[in-house]
Amino acid sequence: MTPTPSLGPQRLRIGEGYISGYASIFLALLALAAVGCFHYPEYLTIPEFREVYTGEAMKTLLMSGIVASFLFATVSFLLSRRKRLPLLGIALATAAVVLGGFAVQARSVEATSWHLGLDWLVLDLLLMSVIFVPIELAFPKNLRQSRFHAEWRTDLVYFAVSHLFVQFFGVITQAPARLLFGHLGLAPLQSWVHGLPLLLALPLALFLTDLFQYATHRLFHSHVYLWRFHSVHHSTQAMDWLAGSRTHFVDIFATRAISFIPLYVCGFSPLAFNCYVLFVSIHAVLIHANTRLKFGFLKYLFVTPQYHHWHHGDDPAHYGINFAIHFPLIDKVFGTYYLPGNEWPAATGVHEAAYPKGYVKQLVYPFTKSPFDHDLHVEEQSSR
Ligand SMILES: [Zn+2]
Ligand SMILES: [Zn+2]
Repeated sequence: MTPTPSLGPQRLRIGEGYISGYASIFLALLALAAVGCFHYPEYLTIPEFREVYTGEAMKTLLMSGIVASFLFATVSFLLSRRKRLPLLGIALATAAVVLGGFAVQARSVEATSWHLGLDWLVLDLLLMSVIFVPIELAFPKNLRQSRFHAEWRTDLVYFAVSHLFVQFFGVITQAPARLLFGHLGLAPLQSWVHGLPLLLALPLALFLTDLFQYATHRLFHSHVYLWRFHSVHHSTQAMDWLAGSRTHFVDIFATRAISFIPLYVCGFSPLAFNCYVLFVSIHAVLIHANTRLKFGFLKYLFVTPQYHHWHHGDDPAHYGINFAIHFPLIDKVFGTYYLPGNEWPAATGVHEAAYPKGYVKQLVYPFTKSPFDHDLHVEEQSSR
């Protein structure tokens, strides 16, 4: 029998003051981080990303975030009998103001040898929550699943690490392609691809990377030692927009390094590359989201939540399907396509595997032990 996944507390409902309370705290924390970015841009923001936005726009966003945090706190205060959430939101938003939330100015900075991607973390977290929190509230797949599933803190750490250390991830995942293909005479091909219109370049970039991703993904599923690392991603029993971030470092490194090869070899224009990154960032989150949103005929063209949830299904009868990340066509061609009407898998996860809780333990564990040895089950049960 499949164990019932732990789904945490009851689902949050609109009108109880909890959602507004959490929104107030969340926005105030983002505002605090943004204030830090304004004070120490050379160490906390990404030079390439600073080119994409303007200081003025970011300042307007920061001030709006603080004001919204106070407004959400007020709503929560009026609706909820528990005043702890709005009071914490007000305290954090006040701290953001005191530290310069309304006074900070963007300034030009000298390049430094290292930087964190705090600006990328704040903006992507804001964008993803603005898109997916309302979608999951309005069109949930799993009605019982709370916004805060049992291991949401761990998943948030995964999200934060992959954004904060974006410089490190960028360098090491691009190194193999540069090392292997840097000396080839690729200029004619690259200048042709560079000149392609965006509407052709973007699908081409997505399709080529998906082919490479497909091969890597299947390898991670079929090789016993590699599966230890990739099964961390499959260990989530409560699929939602944040849970998809749970991916082991080895998995991220190999998958990104290999899918960067076609991008590097073809030499897509910076515009096509940036659109690719934006599309992938949103799409990767969407396919894990806890939403039943229907996509009509698009579900046969693009990977949707239903399609990727089947890949995460915990029933061994349906293992080894839907490896493609963007285009189901690739699974069709290689015989791994599965999409039964409007049905969804009964549950997700890898119920025969057991992982320690927390980011650091999950990072170290697969190097030395297999989650399928069941040592951990025994350890956990004996420590209860
Ligand atoms: Zn997989
Ligand atoms: Zn996934």
